[in-house]
Amino acid sequence: LHLKTYDPITEEISVGNTYHDGEKIAKAMIGDALQKRVKAIDEDTCEAGDEDAFFVADMGEVYRQHLRWKKHLGRVKPHYAVKCNPDPQVLRLLASLGTGFDCASKAEIEQVLKMGVDPSRIIYAQPCKTKSYVRYAAKEGVRQMTFDNADELYKIKELFPHAELYLRILTDDSASLCRLSLKFGASLQDTGSLLELAKKLDLNVVGVAFHVGSGASDPEAFLKAVRDARFVFDQAAALGYDLSTLDVGGGFVSETFNEMAAVLSGALDEYFPPHVRVIGEPGRYYVSSAFTIACNVIARRAVEDKDLGTTSYMLYMNDGVYGNFSSIMFDHQHPYPRVLRAGTGKDTRLMFHSTHSGVPTVDGEYENNRPAIEYSIWGPTCDGIDCIAESWSSCDTLDVGDWLYFEDMGAYTKCSATKFNGFSDSHDTIYVSSEPGAAALLGY
Ligand code: PLP
Repeated sequence: LHLKTYDPITEEISVGNTYHDGEKIAKAMIGDALQKRVKAIDEDTCEAGDEDAFFVADMGEVYRQHLRWKKHLGRVKPHYAVKCNPDPQVLRLLASLGTGFDCASKAEIEQVLKMGVDPSRIIYAQPCKTKSYVRYAAKEGVRQMTFDNADELYKIKELFPHAELYLRILTDDSASLCRLSLKFGASLQDTGSLLELAKKLDLNVVGVAFHVGSGASDPEAFLKAVRDARFVFDQAAALGYDLSTLDVGGGFVSETFNEMAAVLSGALDEYFPPHVRVIGEPGRYYVSSAFTIACNVIARRAVEDKDLGTTSYMLYMNDGVYGNFSSIMFDHQHPYPRVLRAGTGKDTRLMFHSTHSGVPTVDGEYENNRPAIEYSIWGPTCDGIDCIAESWSSCDTLDVGDWLYFEDMGAYTKCSATKFNGFSDSHDTIYVSSEPGAAALLGY
């Protein structure tokens, strides 16, 4: 397990095996909030839904990620990708930290504007936009937007001819978690004719945008995309455009951020002189590790294997892939369960592990010599695909009423939850801040 260490004085951030105080404080705060909430719930007497899954969000983590961004990618002004997690406290914190915002729809633009953010801090980063949304953007003065095809240029000419346009180019996103270039981005074969058309329509192209795929893992993808963007800047210059801005998109992952940032910074310095403004659209990087979710075990089924003489258990939780675990389907995630409360009603134990719990040793025994119990973990809906973990082992005997928690649940989770089977698509969030700076900005 690699844990980030962060020194708020020197702004030094590294990856190591020990917690720095900030991280320790975060763990303690999150653990306290989780335990306090579950202690207050009595599944035998509570109102329907009182035991619903809930989040604990550490705004201090978002704050640390922002400082880390500034340290390693100081040239790139982040425009947080709202789609990743439009949590109002996250947006409020980032707004007060001065970031911009990448919005994909009218509702996202509206949410950001309602916080009092100036329209110039928003980029409508969706190359294929709804006509009425473009009219809305024009009315609200959200001028920056992306395009990648001729039809969109005609649409913009008609609805918002003075928009500030970014030509989104194709990238090699083959090493990313979620590929976006299957759907968006102009190839370098097409960029010349698109720029010519934009010129003919007297449109205001101001920059180039790319996205190397969400959850990118190959730093070379950034290098190639920056080089390609340079090529398009030069193409545009030959047509009389003086492009001012490069948008390097999102794709950053906390674990590999420093490495990616180093490659990207080097490429930017090599290919783009300092007067070129550079923006980015990070989503996952900012919020993934800030959110932890706790779920209640609502049912259990024993599965006996008579041949082997073993018993394993299917645990049914009150959240699943149609809810906040939508990230399993849409974002290729594998959320890892940890025990928050075991032994409900008998010998109740409240726990909050800072490392993976229930990892068997080679001989199948746990370090504390309790035998491993095999579980599979399921969501609450009728559908067989609603499975969170096909196989998981723990030394704890888990039953109805117990609680599990999952870390790193901030990105592409609650924003894509549904109401399927009548389960709630919005869950309580308890906010904490392990950084005084974030707490002050948010008034905690
Ligand atoms: N920008 C655009 C245009 C996107 O489509 C996405 C994600 O789909 C993002 C930014 C955010 O990407 P990430 O969360 O990987 O940083």
